[in-house]
Amino acid sequence: MGIISENLLEVKKTLPPHVSLVAISKTKPIEDILEAYSTGHKIFGENKVQELIEKYNELPKDIQWHLVGHLQTNKIKYIIPFVSLIHSVDSWKLALEIEKQATRIGKQVPILLQVYIAKEETKFGLDEEELVELCEATEHFPHLNFCGLMGMATNTTDEQIVRNEFKYLKNLFDQTKIRYFSDQPGFKEISMGMSNDYLMAVEEGSTMVRVGSSIFGERDLNHMSL
Ligand SMILES: *Cc1c(COP(=O)(O)O)cnc(C)c1O
Repeated sequence: MGIISENLLEVKKTLPPHVSLVAISKTKPIEDILEAYSTGHKIFGENKVQELIEKYNELPKDIQWHLVGHLQTNKIKYIIPFVSLIHSVDSWKLALEIEKQATRIGKQVPILLQVYIAKEETKFGLDEEELVELCEATEHFPHLNFCGLMGMATNTTDEQIVRNEFKYLKNLFDQTKIRYFSDQPGFKEISMGMSNDYLMAVEEGSTMVRVGSSIFGERDLNHMSL
């Protein structure tokens, strides 16, 4: 067995059964993804539309592709036909465009609302007010399946900062669930935790971790988009 499959199985072993693993394969070649896939793993995530489409075309069709990066409205139409979950709905405008494209092909599209939880200008996400606006208006988005919240913590070695951000997101999820989605069992996911902090995220209530470098190895810096 190769190192990638070993890493993937290691990560999986540490996750409780209610937590799903999204293997983040951005910048990594097809062979690496096939190795991970050979373990039986089917959920992969990318952060760029173009790369997602290329990989979708070349790889087995039973892979469930998640889009985890910031999305431009003009690119949505290309991924709507096959994407399994969009983690990064961070504006009303984006939600509206997904609704429009989903309506066009008559598909329900599962999405997460990305909330701004970090103390970094470079990160995307809804603030609390924008989150409320969207949750109060779900009838405008009949083709969107609201599945939960997503957040990206501050990129820091200070564990307490990261833990507090995870606690904040979990708390916000609970409130949002009670207030707007109590009758919708599908609203159940909290996507939080990456290679450096996914175990802490699970302790704080994550149901979906997005792990890249701990599985596939470090990424080439020239390809880094974060
Ligand atoms: C790259 C990326 C990840 C994975 O990061 P690692 O630190 O390599 O595990 C998770 N989430 C998002 C949104 C990403 O862009």
